[in-house]
Amino acid sequence: MELLSYEADVVVRNAYLVTMDPERRVFQSGALAVKNGRIISIGPDREIGVQFESVRTIDAAGAAVHPGFIDNHNHLCLHNMRWAYPEIPDPIHSPDPSAKSYWDICADEVEYAGSKLASLEMARNGTTCFLEAGTLTTPDAGAKAIEDVGIRGVLGDPFIFDVHEESVPVIERYPLDTQRAFNSLGSELKRNRDPDGLVRGHVNLRGMASASKDLELAAVTLAQEHGVVLNQHQSYHPNDTSSDDRLRGSHPLVYLWEIGALRQNCTFAHMNIIRDDEIDPIADSSMSVVWCPAASMLHAVGGTFHGRHAELYAQGVNVALGCDSANWTTAFDIAEQMVLAILTARDKTGQIGLLTAEDVLTMATINGAKAVGLQDEIGSLEVGKRADLVIRHDNLPEAQPGMDPIRSLVLSTRSKSIDKVMVNGEVIVDNGHSTKVDEAEVYARSRESSRWLAERWTIPPLSPRWPPIA
Ligand SMILES: [Zn+2]
Repeated sequence: MELLSYEADVVVRNAYLVTMDPERRVFQSGALAVKNGRIISIGPDREIGVQFESVRTIDAAGAAVHPGFIDNHNHLCLHNMRWAYPEIPDPIHSPDPSAKSYWDICADEVEYAGSKLASLEMARNGTTCFLEAGTLTTPDAGAKAIEDVGIRGVLGDPFIFDVHEESVPVIERYPLDTQRAFNSLGSELKRNRDPDGLVRGHVNLRGMASASKDLELAAVTLAQEHGVVLNQHQSYHPNDTSSDDRLRGSHPLVYLWEIGALRQNCTFAHMNIIRDDEIDPIADSSMSVVWCPAASMLHAVGGTFHGRHAELYAQGVNVALGCDSANWTTAFDIAEQMVLAILTARDKTGQIGLLTAEDVLTMATINGAKAVGLQDEIGSLEVGKRADLVIRHDNLPEAQPGMDPIRSLVLSTRSKSIDKVMVNGEVIVDNGHSTKVDEAEVYARSRESSRWLAERWTIPPLSPRWPPIA
């Protein structure tokens, strides 16, 4: 039989290929071909490998290849202050009323440096797309950092709220002003004019008892009209949940459902404090829930036991994962969130099989794509989708003996076994390092920015508990 030869830009061969397609097909020795940034063919290596002539062939040497991770909740800009300030008071919600907010001090270059560090951290940890939670003071600075590193970012309108509750930090730059809130809504949607752009926009509310009924409805409707998600923080901590209860007169998810603001395109982050009567509205609306396990546990919020993330997932709710922000998480590393999700769910419920490695990989990929509103473009390795993927290596003790590559990568190798990361068919991480930016330069700019912030802030930086000897 004569085989036809087709042209591709890149062919990835000899991969333990985890597609995350609707049938959850896995090819023991698989291959995929990429042209113009999209997957044009996928299947057994013995077929794809001989059908395509490509500019570049990547041999995965039998290691796992899977879709890039999607981080559905983070704050891109705060990396320059990671661990620079004491845990209590936390560096944003300072009890000192004279202390300026981080966002009133931050300069564009500082925001660019922090965003670049955060994007680099994500890229190296296999995250190829993330949803930013509406806290960039200069979204253009963040967008440039994301493009420079080469991952995808979906940015939100900064600080939209029209109700002031205790959980909202005072930011001079973003005053409580109903007109400002309504006028700014949808400001990042302009980025969707370029369908090939790495940086896109969604509609974002700050959330947690900070929006009126009119603003909630305007935001979700605008998002729906533009085919994007409405993202907001929701039910993070008992404090903001009690504010919401008081403001709404009922539990917040019940209230939002009753006013018609809880819809399929809603992606709410945290959702740590969920009461019995909120389960049905969440399930019936087909909304997405973003579980940030580290962000709950680090600040002793109690999401592990008050949250219902694993139970909602088991019920068919689209649960995805998020990291949150520098001082609210361990790292921008979705692999860590995956393992924390499994550990906390099993420990809480006493059910060993409640969440599997395959379940959390689903949350981190295809569910993440739905939650970010890009399920037709990313989240699985299928013909027509963007070639956003992670290529592993097996050259690690934690990868041995390699009998179950999915459990290996979720539970033991996590981010350590990442060799290459591809976005749009371009290798942006090779041998674990960025091909796009000078990493040492990114680190130097971040340290410089951190010092710049420390000089201007009225909150004194942290003195180490074990002061180092000079
Ligand atoms: Zn957040």
